[in-house]
Amino acid sequence: MTLLTPPDAFDLHVPIVVVGAGACGLTAALAVREAGVEVLVLERDASPSGSTALSSGMIPAAGSMVQRRAGVEDSPALLAKDIQGKAKGRADPAIVGAVTAESGPVIDWLNGHADIDLHLVQGFLFPGHTVERMHAPPDKTGITLIAMLLAAANRAGVDIATDAHVTALFASADGVVSGVRLTRPDGGVEDIGCDVLILACNGYGGNPAMVSRHIPEMADADYFGHTGNQGDAVNWGVALGGEARHMTAYQGHGSVATPHGILITWALMMEGGIQVNNRGERFSNEHQGYSEQSVTVLAQPDRTAWNIYDARLHALGMTFEDYRNAEAQGAVRSADTMEGLAASIAVDAERLKAAIAETGGDGVDRFGRDFSRTAALKAPFYAIKVTGALFHTQGGLRIDGRARVLRSGGDDPLPNLYAGGGAACGVSGPEVSGYLSGNGLLTAVTLGRIAGRDAAERVG
Ligand SMILES: Cc1cc2nc3c(=O)[nH]c(=O)nc-3n(C[C@H](O)[C@H](O)[C@H](O)COP(=O)(O)OP(=O)(O)OC[C@H]3O[C@@H](n4cnc5c(N)ncnc54)[C@H](O)[C@@H]3O)c2cc1C
Repeated sequence: MTLLTPPDAFDLHVPIVVVGAGACGLTAALAVREAGVEVLVLERDASPSGSTALSSGMIPAAGSMVQRRAGVEDSPALLAKDIQGKAKGRADPAIVGAVTAESGPVIDWLNGHADIDLHLVQGFLFPGHTVERMHAPPDKTGITLIAMLLAAANRAGVDIATDAHVTALFASADGVVSGVRLTRPDGGVEDIGCDVLILACNGYGGNPAMVSRHIPEMADADYFGHTGNQGDAVNWGVALGGEARHMTAYQGHGSVATPHGILITWALMMEGGIQVNNRGERFSNEHQGYSEQSVTVLAQPDRTAWNIYDARLHALGMTFEDYRNAEAQGAVRSADTMEGLAASIAVDAERLKAAIAETGGDGVDRFGRDFSRTAALKAPFYAIKVTGALFHTQGGLRIDGRARVLRSGGDDPLPNLYAGGGAACGVSGPEVSGYLSGNGLLTAVTLGRIAGRDAAERVG
């Protein structure tokens, strides 16, 4: 990864440059502008989207005003407990502390922008969350989230250069970054100087060689994130003397409609649905988490499974745009009887009946799932064929609670480099099972704001 010797003069100089116009980069830029400091966001695409636009736009946060209005009692400590519970205590406590403390305030602050409207998602809990704390745009899509952030950034006077692929950094031997080189689609090159650099260009999910090296179990799986996320941040940061951490961590998903390639909300599982393989047998505790379920589903025959549910859960699914799209594309099967559904999806009817009968259980089952809280599935029945996929990587640059990139092996920061979102090491620990729903956007918006605020203070 290219580090260049600083030139005598740059084509342009701005105090703060942000690489990447996803949730992290735009949130960071908003925080910089709020402090009255000039900021330039560089985005490789013609139109900013990132993995943020592909997401469901769900941001977990504790203690927000919308939670309080809904009567939900939550706290940073409770969110931190849930994060560490999922990560088996292996997430960096300093980062968990920083992002959970910032989570409620960042939602309130974002909602304070005229263009941004984040609601509390109610009616079900995602695996590992103790209370309702997902905040999302009204239509629960990442497309709306990025559109809202872009509108707010434009209103705040953030400069965003698109078709601006950052291909190298200028840095001195002691790790001081003095600027970036960007390459235009026509091959043109521009060198821009800065006092501080914020890396918000996500992880390495779009880089097959890095995925094979760090998470070989996902090497052959479909990648559903943004292909432009090539691992630039972690490669630059390491070249500058920083440290890559938890590179084996990632968010997978065990419920992507196949062959349609559409995310099917895990709310179906949390509210009573089950997964069976193509023999008609259940194979797991569906409540453990959708991330690790990617690996479990890929281990089934044909690397697929069927989500099995009923009309009540179909109605819940229809509140999600992705699910409505899946239905419109013919992914949803239904039948009045178990036999009819078994015939429709070509699985053994007796095994399917036995699997559905398990949903009437009133205790913890053989996989460790407790069905006592949810209603047994009843006719008519529904099914969607799904597979496991890689959504985004969670490993990245080791940072401190101020989002400053730390030097390898120590706790002193590099002179002027920040990272947030997928560019930084997340709060999921080193394993796929450590991903708590929403850890992706949580670290994008909280670390984005923290980085932007801190960077603006130092140059302001
Ligand atoms: C299908 C799907 C659903 C998801 N749902 C959720 C959810 O509901 N909740 C949740 O918390 N997380 C979810 N995630 C994860 C979430 O999308 C990411 O964690 C989050 O968007 C990361 O934000 P970011 O700003 O770090 O990266 P991104 O949004 O990916 O932005 C990074 C930007 O950097 C640009 N870039 C990269 N390299 C360069 C370069 N060298 N020069 C210039 N620009 C560059 C990219 O083009 C991109 O626009 C989901 C992911 C997927 C794939």
